[in-house]
Amino acid sequence: MKYLIETIGCQMNVCESDTLSEALSDYEMLKVSNVSDADIIILNTCSVRSQAEQKAFSYIGRIEDLKKQNPNVKVVVIGCMAERLGTKIRKRFKSVDLVLGIKDIDKFALKIVNLCKFNTVNSDVLVNNTSQIISYVTIIRGCNNFCSYCVVPFVRGREVSLDNQTILNQCQKFVQNGTKEIMLLGQNVNSYKYGQTNFVSLVRDICKIDGLKRLRFMTNHPKDLSDELIELIANEKKICHHIHLPMQSGSNKILKAMNRKYTYEYYLELVYKLRTKVPEISITTDIIVGFPEETDKDFNDTFEAIKNIRFDGLYVFKYSPRPNTKASNMLDDVPLEEKKNRLSIILNEANKISSEIVSSMVGKTLEVLTDNFYDNTLEAKTKSGRKVFIKNANKDYLGKILNVCIEESKVHSLFGNIVV
Ligand code: SF4
Repeated sequence: MKYLIETIGCQMNVCESDTLSEALSDYEMLKVSNVSDADIIILNTCSVRSQAEQKAFSYIGRIEDLKKQNPNVKVVVIGCMAERLGTKIRKRFKSVDLVLGIKDIDKFALKIVNLCKFNTVNSDVLVNNTSQIISYVTIIRGCNNFCSYCVVPFVRGREVSLDNQTILNQCQKFVQNGTKEIMLLGQNVNSYKYGQTNFVSLVRDICKIDGLKRLRFMTNHPKDLSDELIELIANEKKICHHIHLPMQSGSNKILKAMNRKYTYEYYLELVYKLRTKVPEISITTDIIVGFPEETDKDFNDTFEAIKNIRFDGLYVFKYSPRPNTKASNMLDDVPLEEKKNRLSIILNEANKISSEIVSSMVGKTLEVLTDNFYDNTLEAKTKSGRKVFIKNANKDYLGKILNVCIEESKVHSLFGNIVV
C-alpha cells in the first residue's frame, strides 16, 4: 500500500504528518511523493487562516479529477479543517473517503489502515526511512489562551501536555537514528506542565541526550516566557539562539482587543532581557494588520515597534475573521485595500531590516548545521536560524556541524564557503 501526505499549515502539522508517516510505516505502508503512485492520498489541513482552507478545498478539487480516472484511490482529509468543517467536506466532495478531525489524532493511523485493508500491497517502491537531521517533536497540544482572533482553541481543543518520559524517549530514538537537531513544538511551549516537569526542566533533560547537537522550540507566548527560561537559553550550549515571539501588534489598544494579555512595554522589556542575556539571539515575530478598529495611529505604533525592535524575521498577515472567535463578532472595519497596503508597508520595512542584518554577517565565520543537499548545494542553518547556502559542496558534509565563512548575503539568506 502506497500513500502520499500533502501538508498545509504550520510546523505542528508537519510534525503530525511525520508522526503519522512513522505510524503508517509500522503497518508496512510505503510513502511516495508522486500523487499518481499513491493508493491513498492524505491531506493534512489547517484552519488558522481562511487562505489555508481555500488551498485545501482547491487541492481536494484537483484530487476529485484524479479519482475519476482511478476510482480505487482513497482520499483522507485530516487536521484542523477536518475538525472544523468535516460535515461540509463530506457533503461537498464525494471523492473523500475519510475525514478525521485533529482530536482523533491518536487514531489516525489505525483508521487509515482499516479503510485500506482490502487493497493489495505493492512492494516495488522504496521505503523512505532515511534518518532526519532535524526532527520535530510535539510536546503540548491545543491552547487555553483564546486570543480573540484565533480558531486554534476551538479546533485543537484545550491545552494537553504530553508525558515527559514519552517525549524524552522519542527524542532519544531520533538522536540514535541520526538526528542532530530537535525542534520542540506546541502552540505555547512555555506553558508545558506534566506532573512535576515544566518546560524548563523538560528542556534541561532533553539537552542531556548524548549526540544531540542542537535544540529549538516554538511557539513562545510572551506572557509565559520566564526569566528562568531566558537564563537557560543563555547558559545551555545546545539551545539555539533563536526565539519566535509573536508580538501581533505594537498598539496596546489592539493587544487588549486581541486578548494577548501583555502590553507593548512588557514585550519590549522581554526583548531587552533576551538581548542582554543572549546578545547574539535572533528574535522573530508574527504581526497581524487590519484587526478590527486598527486606526492609522494603531498601525503606526506597530510600524514604529518594528523599526525599534528590528526583528530578525517577521511573518505578517492580513486579519480575516475566523468562525467562533470573539473577534468575528467585532466589526471588520479596515477595508481590504488598506489591509494590503499596511501589509506591504510592514513587509518592506522588515525586508530592509533583514537585509541590513544579513549584510552585517558578510565576512564573519558562523557555525552551521547542514540539513539538505541538492544541485551540488548544501543548505544549512546557523544557530540563530538563518539559512546559509554552500555552493559546489560535497554531499559528505550533509548532517555535519561546520564553520562557514560568509561571502554574500540576500534579503533573508547567506552564502558562504566551508572553513577547513
Ligand atoms: S496563543 Fe493565541 S494565537 Fe496562539 S494558538 Fe493560542 S489562542 Fe491561538
